[in-house]
Order: sequence, then C-alpha cells, then structure tokens
Amino acid sequence: MSERKVALVTGAARGIGLATARRFLEQGWRVAMDDRDAPELERAAEALEGIIALPYDVSVPDQVERMVADTLGAFGRIDALVNNAGVADFGPIEETDFARWRTVMETNLDGVFLMSQACLPPLKESRGAIVNIASISGLRASTLRVAYGTSKAAVMHLTRQQAVELAEHGIRVNCVCPGPVRTKLAMAVHSQAIIDAYHDAIPLARYGSEDEIAAVIAFLCSPDASYVTGQILSA
Ligand code: NAD
Repeated sequence: MSERKVALVTGAARGIGLATARRFLEQGWRVAMDDRDAPELERAAEALEGIIALPYDVSVPDQVERMVADTLGAFGRIDALVNNAGVADFGPIEETDFARWRTVMETNLDGVFLMSQACLPPLKESRGAIVNIASISGLRASTLRVAYGTSKAAVMHLTRQQAVELAEHGIRVNCVCPGPVRTKLAMAVHSQAIIDAYHDAIPLARYGSEDEIAAVIAFLCSPDASYVTGQILSA
C-alpha cells in the first residue's frame, strides 16, 4: 500500500467540494473526486494532479459501488470520505411535492448512507475518517427548508449513529454544518431576504468562503483530530 493518503470527496466539481479536494492535494494527499456533473468535473480535474475523476451519482447504489472500486483500483486505499455532494431546493411545505422531497433526500441523506456503507471495508483497513456535510439549516428550522433542513438534520443524527458504531473499528465520523457560502447551490436559493437574515443571525455577519469550510473538513480528517468523533461543528 502506498504511503500517501487518499481522500474520496463527493460533489467535488465545484464549490466546497472542489476547495476541499484542493486542500487535501496541498497537504500531499491523493484525491478521488466524484461529481455527477461530468463536464464540470472534467473542467475542474484538468488543472489538478494527483487525482482521479469519478462521474458518478451518490444516490445510485451501483454507481456508489463503482466509485469505491475505481478509487481502490487507482489508489489502493481510502483514508477519508467527505460526503459533500448536496442539492438545495427551497419551497413552502404545500408546494414541496413528493418528487421534490425525494430529490433532496436521495442525494443529501441516501447518498451519505450509501457512500459511508460502501467505504467501510477500506476505512476499516486504514482506520480512517468520515466527514458528513450538513448545514446551518439542519441546526435550526427556518422557512422554505422543509426538505433541505430535514435532510441536513438527519445527516447530523446519521453522523452520531455512525460515530458510535464505527468507533470500534477506529473510524472517526464527524459533521460540518457550514453557514452560508456563495456557491452555485446557495446563490440559486438565497433571495436578498435570506442573505439579509443570515447577516443578522451570524456572529461574524458575513458569508464564509469555500476555503474556510475546507480547512475545517481537512482538520477533522487529519491526525490532529485523532480523538474527535461524533461531533457536529458549525463553520
Ligand atoms: P455546489 O452546488 O457548488 O456543489 C455541489 C456539487 O455536488 C455539484 O457540483 C453537484 O453537481 C454535486 N452533486 C449534487 N448531487 C450529486 C449527486 N447525487 N451525486 C454526485 N454529485 C452530486 O454546492 P456547495 O455549496 O459547494 O455545497 C456543498 C455541500 O455543502 C452541500 O452538501 C450543501 O448542502 C452544503 N452546504 C452549502 C452551503 C452554502 O451556503 N453553499 C451551506 C450549508 C451547507
């Protein structure tokens, strides 16, 4: 087994996932970058070395299996899984039909479950780490987030379930709840009213950057966090 550590980052074509992939690379890791948006992933991957690009969907079980197999085929190990892929769809309860609800749950919750389960054999071997990305919207209820907020609250609890059960294998599992970050996902759903409300509610009174979130994720995957598990960290 090669000594260089390997991170598998989902939703890595842009935004927080891409910043996280870059940070791992800066720290000498190799990175398996997954994103179902194949053209965007291709563009992001072009500029980077020490990566493989995996154009798979985290909510489809056989694509998840292929993702893990491809990563092990290329790199032989997985030391960290970052469950970052996510979708946002904001709307009132009465307008959130079952299809919209399922679309959010499939990626944001089912994807985290499927990916984590599929990565267990290599993570047991490396005594590695999982970081699940939830959201400020999972910590507190706010209007229009019936599906998104509920999916993220579930990710927080799934993190705790995973942490208690996987600790015996030396696998640490933590959750990062980003505040607002100006990514494509956020800008598609953050109206001016939502932006103003965030500025009022957040102590630092500003949006965060992708790099600030990536730094927290990388810390949780690093040996510096070797005694940290089951934690929900707002960033
Ligand atoms: P983004 O839209 O810029 O990036 C998300 C990426 O995930 C996209 O490239 C998309 O193609 C990919 N993706 C979506 N569904 C997928 C699937 N089923 N399989 C594989 N790839 C998939 O968004 P972002 O803001 O960087 O979000 C990253 C994570 O951070 C998400 O989980 C999001 O919910 C969370 N988050 C973001 C904010 C914010 O303000 N930006 C705040 C809190 C939490």
